[in-house]
Amino acid sequence: MRSIIAATNNPGKVLEIRQILNGLPYDILSLKDAGVNIKVEEDRDSFEENALKKALEICKYTGMPVIADDSGLEVMALGGRPGVYSARFAGPNASDEENNEKLLKLLEAVSFEKRQAVFRCVVVFAAPDGTVLTAAGSCYGKIGFSPAGRNGFGYDPLFIVDGLDKTFAELTPQEKNVISHRGKALKKLKELMIKQGYIRKT
Ligand code: IMP
Repeated sequence: MRSIIAATNNPGKVLEIRQILNGLPYDILSLKDAGVNIKVEEDRDSFEENALKKALEICKYTGMPVIADDSGLEVMALGGRPGVYSARFAGPNASDEENNEKLLKLLEAVSFEKRQAVFRCVVVFAAPDGTVLTAAGSCYGKIGFSPAGRNGFGYDPLFIVDGLDKTFAELTPQEKNVISHRGKALKKLKELMIKQGYIRKT
């Protein structure tokens, strides 16, 4: 089977990309699986630019097709922070727990109605023949007052999905993937890959 590299070192993202693209005639390799250990600096101001940069650099380096995901959480009461800094909100090597604690602390005095947030994801497919395809997805919700649920990764235990009284971490992986920013973006990307003839419709 042919392979696509998922240009991320985040195990939570790799797992979701595999689950969502399940059924494609491609093996999804993490950077580690593919033996790639270059670090692409995510130094751009938008999810689009960071995802494009990651996809193009890893594709050029490996000569293989690549899917890069750049994603994050925008909290309205914080003027859109942490945004592109979501992974390193509490510092360069911050853990998910440290990021979540920082978010809760900053929102301490903010009422539930004012805790609106949106998860955004941009995915880019880049192939050695020069093809570049881009798709985006978002998911709206509110930041809870304490973590709930054990599934997922990152800010999942704090993100209460609009219309559901549950956090992402309280959903099964399948339930999250249907409504999540990443699920929506990858579904659109898959359609674009079908249109371009990279994969056949199943
Ligand atoms: P980056 O795209 O590698 O810059 O990192 C994105 C960061 O955003 C992750 O490390 C998480 O903190 C957060 N994030 C992105 N998507 C999700 C998600 O689906 N659930 C929880 N946190 C997420």
